Amino acid sequence: MTVRPVVITGDPVLHRPAAKVTDFNDDLRTLIADMHETMDAANGVGLAAPQIGVGLRIFTFVFGNDDDAPDRGEIVNPVLTVGKITEENPDPDEEAEGCLSVPGLSYPLKRAEWVKIAGFDPHGVPIGWEATGWFARVMQHEYDHLDGKLYVDRLNTKWARKAKKAIRAEGWPKAGGTWQPGVDQDPFGHGEEA
Ligand SMILES: [Zn+2]
Repeated sequence: MTVRPVVITGDPVLHRPAAKVTDFNDDLRTLIADMHETMDAANGVGLAAPQIGVGLRIFTFVFGNDDDAPDRGEIVNPVLTVGKITEENPDPDEEAEGCLSVPGLSYPLKRAEWVKIAGFDPHGVPIGWEATGWFARVMQHEYDHLDGKLYVDRLNTKWARKAKKAIRAEGWPKAGGTWQPGVDQDPFGHGEEA
């Protein structure tokens, strides 16, 4: 298994819809193993294939949940049904989201409290579950990646303005930017001594 570089916002692979997986073969399973390895090295709770530069509809996750889903898993070619999203302003303390492809930044965003997801395991067997709370957020965030959408694309006007400014200040809106989990400093300060 290999830890792959994580692609940073600005690269086209993150901003276009990913393609459906058609072959459930050993290459797919190797890719998924690499995604788990990369997600763990990056201290992430989820990782979508476009984030390692692969434009396929797959994501992995590791998130303890009370829903009828594994704590660690992956889903291929998912279809997402999203519950209602309130119009309220997001809470900066309780609803701040981050993304490994927008390293070091975090902005609040309203998400649906409930989703249903259906797709396939790495052998092409149908799987699916319902998710609630923060686990539902993880499903929505990772699913968005497969449609070429980042959480910063969903922010309200106030937070979108701040995010745009910060992203510009980082000099990211260009192709080819990556960081290497386990080598580069952890962008969210995980795994470091307090
Ligand atoms: Zn992300």
